[in-house]
Amino acid sequence: MYEEAREKVAAFVGGAPSNTIFFRGTTEAVNTTASSLSKSLLKRGDEILVSIAEHHSNFLPWRALGKQGIRTRVVKLNSDYEVDYDALSGSITKNTRVIALTHSSNVLGTRNNIKAVSRIAHDHGALLFVDGAQSVPHMKTDIKSLGADFLAFSGHKMLAPSGTGAMVMSDAAAEIMKNAEPFQYGGGMIKSVSLKREEFAGLPSRFEAGTMNIEGTIAMGNAVDYLNRIGMENVEEHEAKLSRRMLSLIKDNDNVELYGPVSSKNKLPLVSFNIRGVHSHDTAALLDQRGVAVRAGHHCAQPLMDYLGIKSSARASAYIYNDYEDLDVLMESIDYAIRKIGRKNG
Ligand code: PLP
Repeated sequence: MYEEAREKVAAFVGGAPSNTIFFRGTTEAVNTTASSLSKSLLKRGDEILVSIAEHHSNFLPWRALGKQGIRTRVVKLNSDYEVDYDALSGSITKNTRVIALTHSSNVLGTRNNIKAVSRIAHDHGALLFVDGAQSVPHMKTDIKSLGADFLAFSGHKMLAPSGTGAMVMSDAAAEIMKNAEPFQYGGGMIKSVSLKREEFAGLPSRFEAGTMNIEGTIAMGNAVDYLNRIGMENVEEHEAKLSRRMLSLIKDNDNVELYGPVSSKNKLPLVSFNIRGVHSHDTAALLDQRGVAVRAGHHCAQPLMDYLGIKSSARASAYIYNDYEDLDVLMESIDYAIRKIGRKNG
């Protein structure tokens, strides 16, 4: 059943099961890839390019390679809040070995044009690592047409249990990883061990040391079945409607400061905002009183928060189980928070 889950999860993003490794989530996939590449492929003086909108999970594991003399350089965003493709092109050098980029920002909801970035990366002989944590659950994804070498995503953002996730690789990336230094050592990831030497297994076992989250991973396969039954085209269509509606309801509210594009084109049904003069945690607490759950804080993207000139924001996001009525309740709860704080301050 575990291997069946691998077939399902690989097929979900158009990949091969043999190129698909299970992880605890996106974070573990990035850490594994960064660490293994640094010991097998990268050398002092090499560079990694990331965007300023990366979740800490797709920033810190790369930046940690600085200790080995591998530098991480950060590219800013364009006026549509996508990575600045010209700046990315301009920043790539003969030393750039990896571009590590989020497909969709967890703060802004914007979607980067991965195909375009893939061309930039591959024209320069760099590998493209895509953080698909916020895209794979929301859109039909095909690793080949994206042109990604590594595509990592988390089960718990696509209706599977926490502690599940996967990384699917292109054949070229798998060719590198099949001989790369493992990230963790232990049971299940070897061919043979003697007192003098060990031989590690190939893919995917090489990177699945120890007892894996077997039941969680099988459940991730079931989540994929469920999403396939709904149809990812239908998920996308539903979310596009929610995104349009969400922005149209919130964008003209003078008491609300919105971050990111006000156009719903190419954007997840997600808004990051602050009620003017109110801390995001207070906003979240007030919305909670109306039964509305938003996330508040820096969203594990502090460099992006600095770039936006804020410390934190509230973020409301919708998925397949939400509808227009939920968005009305969200807006009512924001008005409630504005009234409440207004009364308290007045
Ligand atoms: N990348 C993005 C864009 C995310 O939104 C998240 C989680 O919020 C992660 C990476 C990390 O995922 P996980 O905590 O499942 O490893």
